[in-house]
Amino acid sequence: MKLPVYLDNNATTPCDPRVVNEMLPYFSETYGNASSHNHLHGWLAEEAVDQSREQVARLINASPREIIFTSGATEADNLAIKGAFEAYEKKGNHIITVQTEHSAVLDACRSIEKRGGDVTYLPVQSNGLIDLNDLESAIRTHTILIAVMYANNETGVIQPIEEIGKLAAKHGILFFSDGVQAAGKIPVDVQKDGIHLMSLSAHKMYGPKGIGALYVRHKNPGVTLSKQIDGGGHERGMRSGTLNVPGIVGFGKAAKLALSEWDEFEERVRTYRDKLEQHLLKLDDTNRNGSPNHRLPHVANISFGQVNGTNLLRQVNKKIAVSSGSACSSASLDPSHVLKAMGLPDKRALSTIRFSLGRFTSEKDIDQAIEHVEKVVNKLRKEKLTT
Ligand SMILES: *Cc1c(COP(=O)(O)O)cnc(C)c1O
Repeated sequence: MKLPVYLDNNATTPCDPRVVNEMLPYFSETYGNASSHNHLHGWLAEEAVDQSREQVARLINASPREIIFTSGATEADNLAIKGAFEAYEKKGNHIITVQTEHSAVLDACRSIEKRGGDVTYLPVQSNGLIDLNDLESAIRTHTILIAVMYANNETGVIQPIEEIGKLAAKHGILFFSDGVQAAGKIPVDVQKDGIHLMSLSAHKMYGPKGIGALYVRHKNPGVTLSKQIDGGGHERGMRSGTLNVPGIVGFGKAAKLALSEWDEFEERVRTYRDKLEQHLLKLDDTNRNGSPNHRLPHVANISFGQVNGTNLLRQVNKKIAVSSGSACSSASLDPSHVLKAMGLPDKRALSTIRFSLGRFTSEKDIDQAIEHVEKVVNKLRKEKLTT
């Protein structure tokens, strides 16, 4: 069976073979529990975890002790929001987030609303960016947290993170950013950006699935979070559970590779992405969504008019693996909440495709995608005229 060309790297990325190689010894040879402090098996595992913690920290200019390993970014998002809500209860109960956040953030916010939390869901402009004036006007005396993602998973739009960090600092509010789609793709610096909490996921950056991290700032200011999982007190008490040593080793290697190769990555995927866009945007009644100047280099979000969205996706996916909106919601036929927030009508949102390129995308993949998508769109439009 011939697999479709993979242009869905924002849903997940293949694990880099160099990452797999690094992980392998940690299954059956160096299998100790990193918390076993009495023997060499434990020490070797701990040493590997320490090294990975350093590599992940370096990727975002953090220090190793600020990295809390979790099962992924969904858990990290939950820990950041629920953990801050509980820990800063005395200061207030108000959180500001954005309508275009990932469902892990939005659902965690809805969950704290049920527990007496007060949440503002900021709108975005038609280009997907928040308006900083809206953000500042939403701040109240009891605001404890601003939660704005670094880059959007559907459109690739990069929010004005440094400016948000400055606003948060000015008002003495914590700034949490879901950094999953940005980290390892573009330079991310939690110091420069004034970020206090940031979630990361290994499988979005050529590492294994089921491992992620939450960056928790240690000083200026030191952030405290209420733990969400009780147990042996691992990860400075913030996340109990035996550490996933092979996963953590893979995450560390993935971070190291991303850091050493991102220049090359950025240039290549940008060239391919631009080629894809240039061709597809030549079709009639086709447009690109999201600010062209503030976005990730490997993502193209394109709407095609005069086609049925379900048919479009089904036909395109026969040869090119892409998604409409987020993978998490693609099981349903609801239009993307991100595109709706940007003002797209439901029908237009439904006939939109997200192309996300990756480290292993070739120019041939792009040529095939251009040819196939053009063919499908033209065919569907012709069928529509004759029925
Ligand atoms: C994929 C993704 C997540 C969830 O990460 P997991 O590690 O799969 O739980 C969270 N936020 C964003 C922006 C994502 O793209």
